[in-house]
Amino acid sequence: MESNILVIYTGGTIGMIQNPATGALTPFNFDALYSHIPVLQNFNCKIDSYCFEPLIDSSNMNPGFWVKLAGVIEENYEKYDGFVVLHGTDTMAYTASVLSFMLENLNKPVVFTGSQLPMGVLRTDGRENFINAIEIAGAYEDETPIVPEVSICFENRLMRGNRTNKFNAENFNAFLSGNYPLLAQVGVHIKYNRQYILKPNFKKLKVHRNLDSNVAILKLFPGISENVVKSILNIEGLKALILETYGAGNAPTDKWFLNALSEANNRGITIFNVTQCKGGSVEMGKYETSAHLGGIGVVGGFDITTESAIAKAMYLLGEGYSNGRLRELLQTPLRGELTVE
Ligand code: ASP
Repeated sequence: MESNILVIYTGGTIGMIQNPATGALTPFNFDALYSHIPVLQNFNCKIDSYCFEPLIDSSNMNPGFWVKLAGVIEENYEKYDGFVVLHGTDTMAYTASVLSFMLENLNKPVVFTGSQLPMGVLRTDGRENFINAIEIAGAYEDETPIVPEVSICFENRLMRGNRTNKFNAENFNAFLSGNYPLLAQVGVHIKYNRQYILKPNFKKLKVHRNLDSNVAILKLFPGISENVVKSILNIEGLKALILETYGAGNAPTDKWFLNALSEANNRGITIFNVTQCKGGSVEMGKYETSAHLGGIGVVGGFDITTESAIAKAMYLLGEGYSNGRLRELLQTPLRGELTVE
């Protein structure tokens, strides 16, 4: 079948080309997509594009932009078979994570990609990433999409978006999915690991637009002071804290520290325990240094990434769940973002 793909360009390095006259990098004109990348004409798909105005460096990403992006997908959902989102790499893992929560019942591919070198640079990785993303977004079998979820396609890997983080600022292999197998390996062939890909549920897409930013991340380090911990926990309006702990979810056992967390928990702040490690899971109670946390109401995040944890907290808070339900849902895989042991 011929697929219709919508390419959504949000900004970032990938969409830049060198102005031959001045040598400066300027955004690529997506209306002239086929003349920039003639090989696209060989695909059995029709490609349209949507360009955000203004384009942004993804370091300026924010919830307002996420809502617009989800809106573009919703408005075009019936018209297209798949979506490719071109995005700066810096916050791509956050955007892919939050979009996975915002787009409930997603039954079509939404493939994020970007590049480390601009499209217009000779050794660019953008061309390959872009072409691979288009092929994956348009990959159907028996009229069913092969990857009907939010993913990131980068270098030779296709990953579940809400399992990723950017771990390298230099290499073309910039993204890691430390706790979940690749959805596909991109080599001579694109080899889909179908057993790891979410199955379509054929329900109607539902877009969630309320994101609550009353959240914070606190990364532990040896020597963290009482002042720092208490200041963060006392931020006005704070509703959820992502606590980045050591190893399998461990934290200091100092009395002042546990009291501060316990007092915040009693005030209704949800504390979500996420490991600083790029692989492995929080196992509260494995060591004495995490057993206390469970006792004072800290919620274990299993193997969720920080990017996904903050996105999930914003989404669930935005939905207005009660504290009890929020805690339950944080520990429940909603879009394949965590593995419950
Ligand atoms: N700072 C850029 C961005 O994230 C880097 C990139 O595009 O990869 O938008």
